[in-house]
Amino acid sequence: MSAVQSREIHLKQRPNGVPTAADFELVTNSLPAPGPGEMLIRNVYMSVDPYMRGRMVERESYVPPFKLGEVLQGHAVGQVVQSNIDRFPAGTYVSHMFGWREYAISDGTMVMPVDPKIALSAYLGVLGMPGLTAYAGLLKHGRPKEGETVFVSAAAGAVGSLVCQIAKIKGCTVIGTAGSDDKVKYLLDELGCDFALNYKTCGDLTKALSAKVPKGVDVYFDNVGGSHLVAALNVMRAFGRIPVCGMIDQYNATGLPEGPGNIIQVIPKRISITGFIVSDHYDMMPEFMADMSQWISAGRIKWRETVSDGIAAAPAAFIGLFHGDNLGKAVVRLGPDKV
Ligand code: NDP
Repeated sequence: MSAVQSREIHLKQRPNGVPTAADFELVTNSLPAPGPGEMLIRNVYMSVDPYMRGRMVERESYVPPFKLGEVLQGHAVGQVVQSNIDRFPAGTYVSHMFGWREYAISDGTMVMPVDPKIALSAYLGVLGMPGLTAYAGLLKHGRPKEGETVFVSAAAGAVGSLVCQIAKIKGCTVIGTAGSDDKVKYLLDELGCDFALNYKTCGDLTKALSAKVPKGVDVYFDNVGGSHLVAALNVMRAFGRIPVCGMIDQYNATGLPEGPGNIIQVIPKRISITGFIVSDHYDMMPEFMADMSQWISAGRIKWRETVSDGIAAAPAAFIGLFHGDNLGKAVVRLGPDKV
């Protein structure tokens, strides 16, 4: 097979505030045939995720920053088209970390075969990293008990929509917040939330939450931080748990955001606040896959996707996460399932 032309997205400059199209560059790369111990993968879907914003900043974190002028990385699913690795013969469908490009050469590190009978994009959402995040974050750190009340922010997104449904499966009362009336309707009508609020129009969030769940909240699954965390602290019950999954409200901050002025409430209310990273919980993968597969088969877990088409659309899909453009998991389709 001759060299393959692969279009890919590079980080052109580090975003200042909310990312813009000017921060990214579409580049065509000529990939050689895979060498010994390598394979060529044609990507079918790639994921855009809020955590990638953190990797665009030059600083030390749990993952290294993206490099300027180089192709970005992220989860993707694709098909092996040429292989010199016995365990990944040509034709195998795989999930891997070389997103933001049409083709990838891999030595098989962190590559997992996936079942093509299942919609491939599900491996980027409900059966992938966001699914495990929701499962581990809620069950291990939120520890919800039957009859308790769970509050979820960014509830109509990839992680939040699954947290809401898992909390319902565990017998909890669920209240979610989202940024549009359509998303609120989705939370109530499709995900089975007991209550939902449009945080952009509900007025004072503490008052709005208290009106819906006057006895308060036992678990707050935080995807947002900021004024959501302040309101959650106000309505938490004694011995409440706050798994801090994300703080998207401050990912684009250009200065140091103010801390929650009411953080002192953790003392009288004996609240546990736990930050977590999904990769700390890969050991839960077998039980996650078993439970999630069973819940999906039983119709107890549903999901939506917001699909953009073509590699050139990837920056806009990513930027859209910070404007609430996505309902459910945001993915980019890079090519047909089969060629
Ligand atoms: P989503 O699919 O939820 O997309 C992001 C959503 O966040 C948007 O659709 C938007 O919805 C909402 N949003 C954007 N800006 C704001 C804001 N300023 N205030 C309130 N809501 C906002 O993304 P994911 O489900 O992939 O991720 C959700 C959170 O989980 C993120 O914070 C992410 O970083 C975190 N995360 C953490 C992981 C970990 O290991 N700790 C792993 C995976 C994700 P709306 O219209 O409702 O505003």
